[in-house]
Amino acid sequence: MKKLGFGCMRLPLLNPEDNTSVDFPQVCQMVDLFLERGFTYFDTAYFYHGGLSEEIMCRALVQRHPRDCFTLASKLPLAKLKEDQSLQEQEDIFQLQLRRCGVDYFDYYLLHNVNADSYQTAQRLDSFAFVQRMKEAGHIRHVGFSFHDGPELLDQVLTEHPEVEFVQLQLNYLDWEDPKVQSHRCYEVAVAHGKQVVVMEPVKGGKLANPSPAVVELLARHNPDASPASWAIRFAASLEHVFMVLSGMSNLEQVADNTGYMADFRPLSPAEVAVTEQAAQQIRKDGTIPCTGCGYCVDGCPQHIPIPALFTLYNRVLGQPGPMHKNEYGELCAQGSPASSCVACRQCEGACPQHLEVVEQLKRVTKAFED
Ligand code: SF4
Ligand code: SF4
Repeated sequence: MKKLGFGCMRLPLLNPEDNTSVDFPQVCQMVDLFLERGFTYFDTAYFYHGGLSEEIMCRALVQRHPRDCFTLASKLPLAKLKEDQSLQEQEDIFQLQLRRCGVDYFDYYLLHNVNADSYQTAQRLDSFAFVQRMKEAGHIRHVGFSFHDGPELLDQVLTEHPEVEFVQLQLNYLDWEDPKVQSHRCYEVAVAHGKQVVVMEPVKGGKLANPSPAVVELLARHNPDASPASWAIRFAASLEHVFMVLSGMSNLEQVADNTGYMADFRPLSPAEVAVTEQAAQQIRKDGTIPCTGCGYCVDGCPQHIPIPALFTLYNRVLGQPGPMHKNEYGELCAQGSPASSCVACRQCEGACPQHLEVVEQLKRVTKAFED
């Protein structure tokens, strides 16, 4: 299999404010181009696009292409199981996912977002044994889990569940040595347990695809023909035990670009790795907020603050807004409430896979746009 996978969590939208307004004709074109160029791996999940991603991939992929020309991954939503507190729910959700996707088996199936909290849920509901049973029944080919916590917990989970075949890790050149995300150490733990790795967030929610002008210039100096995204995806794919790098592609151009340089994948040379280290240093100097825009923090916010949208705007203007940006900020806040309305309940921080200090970051946003 080629090492690039199609992440189905950032599909093109007709209305950028509405995560469910997926541009279906464009998704079909993207799927077709991806397959035409010899790539096969699609990664969806129960929650993506407000719960629509699985059905959309059924219509765009499963119903339009032979089953043996693609591999499909989906995930057991541990967060939903936590809310519902039901054993039967696990089986019902899995059957619903098969129906939504229009398949009778998943090539890859993961427990979604294992962390200290959700691991307790998975243990209580015996979720690892459940997915193993589904594998024995022929409904799953390969079992894994996606992971958003530290290397110590990863070591514990892999020690307690050696039957798992692969892990999906957040890994990119900016987080590689980040003291919170700890991509490098997590990768080493997975390798020590003999597991293959799927990479998520190789471009950190688009941040490494659209870095600051200083970073663009640095990368272009070393290779004027390579897009910033290509540096990030090649960094992840260059790691020996990585068998798949997921890219959440949002338009046909991104599919064309990614499949272009990944068709005949060439690992980064040591000199190119050094360039990514310089880029990471420059990004840290930029002072942008390392939010990936995943939106996990939003639903539980009692103040309905559009957190990722505010962080994206802050990063776009690097914290120095002009009058037009302040208007834009006002429009974003009108959909919920402004950064200054945060009551520091920290629900968002518990939900954030990047372990961001959201409350502190919102103070920076307040200062930039409301003072
Ligand atoms: S800490 Fe602030 S932003 Fe986070 S959930 Fe609470 S009110 Fe919302
Ligand atoms: S603040 Fe964290 S949880 Fe919220 S969108 Fe950004 S990365 Fe995701």
